Amino acid sequence: MKILFASAEIFPFAKSGGLADISYALPKAMRELADVTTLMPLYRFIDKERYGIRPTGEHFTLRFGGTGYDVELFKGGWEAEEAVFVYNPLLCDRDHLYGPPGEGYEDNDLRFAIFCHAIVETARRYAFTLLHLNDWHTAPAALLARDAGLRAKSVFTIHNLAYQGIFPPESLKRTGIAQRHFCMEELEFFGQVNWMKGGIAHADAVTTVSPSYAVEIQEPEYGCGLDGFLRKHNRKLKGILNGIDTEVFNPSSDAALPENYDEKSLEGKDICKRRFLGEINIDKYEYPLFVFIGRFVEQKGIDLLIDTIEEAAKRPIVLALLGDGSESVKHAVEEAVRSKETLYCRFGYDEAFSHRMYAAADFLLMPSRFEPCGLNQMIAMRYGTIPLVHGVGGLRDTVHKIEPSQRICGQGFVFTQMKPASLLAAMDDAVKLYHDKNAFKQIRAFDMRCDFSVKRCAKEYLKLYEGLV
Ligand code: ADP
Repeated sequence: MKILFASAEIFPFAKSGGLADISYALPKAMRELADVTTLMPLYRFIDKERYGIRPTGEHFTLRFGGTGYDVELFKGGWEAEEAVFVYNPLLCDRDHLYGPPGEGYEDNDLRFAIFCHAIVETARRYAFTLLHLNDWHTAPAALLARDAGLRAKSVFTIHNLAYQGIFPPESLKRTGIAQRHFCMEELEFFGQVNWMKGGIAHADAVTTVSPSYAVEIQEPEYGCGLDGFLRKHNRKLKGILNGIDTEVFNPSSDAALPENYDEKSLEGKDICKRRFLGEINIDKYEYPLFVFIGRFVEQKGIDLLIDTIEEAAKRPIVLALLGDGSESVKHAVEEAVRSKETLYCRFGYDEAFSHRMYAAADFLLMPSRFEPCGLNQMIAMRYGTIPLVHGVGGLRDTVHKIEPSQRICGQGFVFTQMKPASLLAAMDDAVKLYHDKNAFKQIRAFDMRCDFSVKRCAKEYLKLYEGLV
């Protein structure tokens, strides 16, 4: 079996969120047991020198929509992991992955169509037998591979159903997708073209990134208009819980931290907290430190957090936020945080800073409205930071309400109503735990020992592939 794993983002080359993390960690874990090649676009902002990215000498012209698109393949890597990169100027020569924060480039259909056609051509040239496609950016490759007569099987993973890749009907022609696929059973979605729907229709197997999310998206509340379609295809739908790379996220060796630590000696974590508070200029070491790391979008419950901040700030806690979003959301966050001494907010994407936050924090807030899997809570636990989450999707599968008498992997605070009062009550419970030093230490150390490694997930995917090929 020769596996081609295609993704629009792979850590550390380009990352906007969890898709990049898992697109690095999962193939890496599978490579110990199988032949896996990863493929992604060579965006202009990728540091070619740092990753030793060089041409393979392979290039071809993709012909579709009445135009020819020249594509060049590159190779490069990070640590022992090598990836293949697709270069075409229209696809790659941009400042952002998908568009400026909160926006999407107008020609994203054509950009990612070039990527999809390149996936199929690469699979054909190198006789790959299994295509693993991820999210809407790569979804049409399942259909294009079938149309091209490839015998490779395809697995399509839904990392987030809220982003489906919806384009006007005129898009079909320019993206080289045959008009006959524009029907209810395939791409048609309220008169528009829906790439995610095409992926679900044409892949041999469809997965979601947690078991709970696989069930939730078959209901109207979380189905984003595709719940009925997913119910129809539910025999090939399976939820496989994501995991994290425990080498990338390892407090005992993480170079971004001022001090390393493990669950046996947590003094280093205290130092991380002191230094971080120094870095953000809040001199309140004795207060519990809550952090929020993530995209400032409704999905992540940023609106709920904004509505809760006023009350939260009256409590003896420190709250630090890191994230990026549209100008209007950033403005609302700024307003909420303004002139509150124990609140801190940083806009932008900063990998090293986020690691320092995970290490420094006592609690991670994840009030997501819905959550396909979520990696933050697993990363937090690895760093001895107790999660406080809304009990949905992957958060439900990974964070179990603290029950001192029970030892269920992954313990934290779970609230069930998207209301400030519900979130605040959970925060108050967390503060109580923080001041019960023994119980706090025990849960923290227990969470650090929980196994959220991607290795389990890799085995499940390999089993799925084997069943198909
Ligand atoms: P998403 O829905 O955004 O993919 P996940 O929880 O699956 O959410 O994964 C988020 C990943 O992105 C984690 O590795 C998290 O630490 C990282 N991340 C999110 N926002 C930022 C940011 N502003 N700076 C640094 N890292 C971030």
